Amino acid sequence: MTDSLMLHFSQQRVDDLLVLERGEGPYVFDTEGRKYIDALSSLFCSQLGYSYGDEMAEVAAAQLKRLAFNTNWGTAHPPAIELAEQIAARAPADDYRVFFTNGGSESVEAAWKLAREHFDALGQQQRTKAIARRTAYHGVTLGALAFTGVPGYKSGFGAPPIDVTHVSNTNAFRDPDADDPDAFCQRLLAEVAEAIRTAGPDQVALIIAEPIQNAGGCLVPPPGYWAGLRRLADECGALLMADEVITGFGRIGEWFAVSREGVAPDLISVAKGLTSAYAPMGAMLARGHVVEPLIAGSKVFRHGITFGGHPVSAAIALRSIEIIERDGVLQNVRDQTDALRRRLDTLLDLPIVGDVRGAGFFWAIELVKDTDATRFDQSERDDLLRSFLPRRLREAGLIARCDDRGDAVLQIAPPLISDAGVLDEIVAGLRDVLADAARHMHLESRSR
Ligand code: PLP
Repeated sequence: MTDSLMLHFSQQRVDDLLVLERGEGPYVFDTEGRKYIDALSSLFCSQLGYSYGDEMAEVAAAQLKRLAFNTNWGTAHPPAIELAEQIAARAPADDYRVFFTNGGSESVEAAWKLAREHFDALGQQQRTKAIARRTAYHGVTLGALAFTGVPGYKSGFGAPPIDVTHVSNTNAFRDPDADDPDAFCQRLLAEVAEAIRTAGPDQVALIIAEPIQNAGGCLVPPPGYWAGLRRLADECGALLMADEVITGFGRIGEWFAVSREGVAPDLISVAKGLTSAYAPMGAMLARGHVVEPLIAGSKVFRHGITFGGHPVSAAIALRSIEIIERDGVLQNVRDQTDALRRRLDTLLDLPIVGDVRGAGFFWAIELVKDTDATRFDQSERDDLLRSFLPRRLREAGLIARCDDRGDAVLQIAPPLISDAGVLDEIVAGLRDVLADAARHMHLESRSR
């Protein structure tokens, strides 16, 4: 590999680096011409897969010729104005305003700064605390990292700049209340209520959560959980935020996953799928009443990012939204979800598969040692998740994610244009790979 390129979240010396140079539909090709199904949509981003380059190039070229760049700092340009309207029109309530960024961490940071500015304008400067969830990933910039609940990503970078209490996430696997979602939900909400009480109800500014938490493995909330978060936030006067960086823009068959919960959060972060990854872009959405105190007090929102809302990215995002609608992409996810769930559930007959969970085109397979759902220990996880599976998946021409920020999982999130044939191909590949993994871990003789 080259010595010049630094890799993200990777060791800096990688033998046999996978270098991808071309894409087509849900497939990508490496520099040797080998074909892979991108069953992770390039880290949950490529909603449309890779065959819309001509259309995207056309709108990008037109925008580059008309106005290559200008900011949203006190001035604006038509693509940003139009995109803000289109996003707001699809949001869970009709009074959202949109602030553009370049990605997810920046969107989370912007939301926190706005929350603080909101309470500052209301004379509630004491609201400096937040509630987030364990194992959740909300980004790596130091503010967003404070919300992130993965201790291994935080140590060594100093005290977090935000006072955040991390509460349980919604992982029901192994939970004593797994068969009683109502009891599970009430217990989780009671823990949030207790965290608010301990922090001081008038000191909490924000409760932040993903509609379906990625880290830990596609953790779907029990029914009533989001309505409960809404109630708790309202009772103490805090703002509620949905981090939709992964779940937004179609991943579970809705523009915003939180819409399924019948809840309109005060703040929402999006990024990744906003442009279907044909250009980098993120956004933070805030409801009217969050922004109103700044307007009423003629306050400046003391936050800005030079390239936030770049006109070329905005033009591409507009076209992506248009394509998602024109080509029935959300409907494709809705139509395929049940069959995908059924196909993935068939993997439960493998001795290494303990749980299959997720929604839409966003799934995790939890890997276990036996029918008692015994976890692999650290050295087994190192072997399985950082050596055997990455190599075997690559041989199988499958891009998926091995992760143990929580328990050991293999995750998939196929491009939203994937048809039944592609989804079958993915599950068949997973079956081969996981059957081999079970043999590799000497689990083959165990009966379930
Ligand atoms: N929030 C969530 C839920 C994410 O999954 C991510 C990234 O994976 C982020 C925030 C940070 O986004 P970015 O990597 O674009 O900064």
